[in-house]
This record gives sequence, C-alpha cells and structure tokens, in this order.
Amino acid sequence: MTDKPKVAFYWCASCGGCEESTVDLAEAILDVAKLVDIVFWPVAIDAKKKDVEAMADGSIAVSLINGAIRTSEQEEMVRLLRRKSGLVIAYGSCAQSGGIPALANQFTREQIMRVVYEECPTVDNPNKVHPQETYVDTDGIGVTLPGFRNIVRSLDQVIDVDYALPGCPPTPKLLAEALQAILEGKLPPKGTVLAPDVAQCDTCPRKDTKPQDVSYLEFKRPHWTDMDPEKCFLAQGIVCMGPATRSGCESQCISGNMPCTGCFGPTSRVRDQGAKIISSICSSVASEESDQIKSVLSGIPDPIGTFYRYGLSKCLLRGRVDTAVTTSQSQEARK
Ligand code: SF4
Ligand code: SF4
Repeated sequence: MTDKPKVAFYWCASCGGCEESTVDLAEAILDVAKLVDIVFWPVAIDAKKKDVEAMADGSIAVSLINGAIRTSEQEEMVRLLRRKSGLVIAYGSCAQSGGIPALANQFTREQIMRVVYEECPTVDNPNKVHPQETYVDTDGIGVTLPGFRNIVRSLDQVIDVDYALPGCPPTPKLLAEALQAILEGKLPPKGTVLAPDVAQCDTCPRKDTKPQDVSYLEFKRPHWTDMDPEKCFLAQGIVCMGPATRSGCESQCISGNMPCTGCFGPTSRVRDQGAKIISSICSSVASEESDQIKSVLSGIPDPIGTFYRYGLSKCLLRGRVDTAVTTSQSQEARK
C-alpha cells in the first residue's frame, strides 16, 4: 500500500465509452498512474466488491462513476463507493443526467421486457420466458440476479454527488483538468459541473453566422441535407442543441459538420435543457396555423430523442406515469 491518493472507477448502465475515454489521456495516463493509487476499476484491474467493503470509510479520495442507474446492483455499488469515498464525480452524461439509457424512461419496465424477450426479430422464445430475480432449479441450486428498476436514474438521484464531468464521453482535457484540480486540492464549490458555464454557441466556430431572429418554414435532417460547412446549423433549418448546451467539448461534432446533440447538458442557468430548446425552436416556427405548424414540426420526427437525448432523467416530466394507477403506486413506479 502507498500513501498516494486512492482513486476508483466504476461503470453502471453505460456503453463503455466513458471507460475508454480515460485511456484517451494517452501518455498522460502514465503521469496519473504515478500520482494516484487506482484501487478499484473492474474493467482494468482485478479488485472485487469485497475488497472495497474491506476499505475504511472515506479512504478512497475520489470515485469517478459513469453510467446511469437501472439495477439494484448498480444502486448497491454506488452506495458502497459513496461511503468509501471522499469525493464522488458523476462522469459523463449518463451518470450526470441519465444519458442514452434514460431514453428507456419513455417505456414501462413491462414494455421493455416484452420487446427484449419476446418481440425482437432475433429472439426465439416461444414460452415467453422472462428473467426472474431469483430461480432455484430442481436440484435446489439457486441463482439471484440484480433487480431491474422501473426507471433509469442519474447518479445524483441515488447518492450524494460532489461534481459532474459532462460529455458523452468527457474530453481528455476536462478529465486531466479535473484530476489536476483534485490532486492540487483546488476544486470549485461542491455541485459544480467541471466545464465552462457558457453555452456552446458562445464558443462555436460558426457563431458569427448564427441569426439573431430565425423563423422556420421547415426542419431538415442532417442526412438528407447538403450542409454548408461554415454556416450555423439553425440558419440552415437543422436542429442544433448549441443554444441550450454547455460548452467544453471543443466543438468536436460541429467541426465534423454535425450539429450539437446536447451531450454536455445545460448551463447552470438552465433548469431543463430540452424544455429550453423546445421553447426557443417552437416560438420561431413561421406560422400560426395549426396544420402548418404540424407540418413544420414533422421535420423533427423524434422530439424526445432530439431534445432529451442525454437528459431524460433530469427532465421536469422525468418519465412516463400511468395515470390509471394510484398515487402510491405511481410513486413506487418512479423508483
Ligand atoms: S456518457 Fe456516452 S460514452 Fe459515457 S457511458 Fe454514456 S453513452 Fe457511453
Ligand atoms: S446553433 Fe449550433 S451551429 Fe449555430 S452557433 Fe450555436 S452551436 Fe454553433
């Protein structure tokens, strides 16, 4: 054992991209490895839950946790890491605000199970068998699986979180700056999102072509459009989340001639990222006739996937609620 600060990494409902992004530190990862002691990182080192349980409470300097929370196992692990850690950082948009996994909050648990275990074209399951949390076979041998919760939650909806590093995934630059701030003890106030608190438009290379007033007669989809590589996407009738999204990504999508999809989440002045952009875009539709408004908005065929792609857990509406159930059932369904 060394007296270097101890660091843990953990992933919950995630794609693995955030784990990979730590490797994007390139050679700098060797410097990090010299300065810290990585005590838990299931994807890279052989340490088990029991090893974390054996550590003293608060003995891990910082846990960087990526992915959203869907299962009982994820809840248990993040509660354990919270107890053992001085600092917890929500790493990436899934941990920060639900991310891509939270798009499943549009559907009930039962719908998801039915699609996955019965209706997918590649599924062969004539007896419609679904996973059980516990199962004991005829020889009395049992197995227990993690519980699959009704909704996907962000990390701070389950445990106390000190900071968030936004992005899908966060950039190596932001990760390096966060690690440096931790090692030097120069962290900002608790609750800060560790990225610039300005809108993406403020740092966008196309900001000079962003129109002051825009009115939409149609919305075009990027893959159907011959996009001008210099001009603001909104000026081309293409939805860009830049006005409602925090800067700090180094405009990587925009430099690749793709509009911002909002993975850095909102700035501190915006409560609901999707609602902010919906209000801005809808108030700029160039018609007051309902049929024409409908026709213009039909150019955005997946509004939730467009405006809440990374933040449905943090949407003020949060998730689907079945109005046919009682209030207490409805509260239960939101867990
Ligand atoms: S934030 Fe993006 S890269 Fe990270 S786990 Fe979620 S989907 Fe993957
Ligand atoms: S709307 Fe998009 S393309 Fe236009 S300035 Fe903002 S971030 Fe850049």
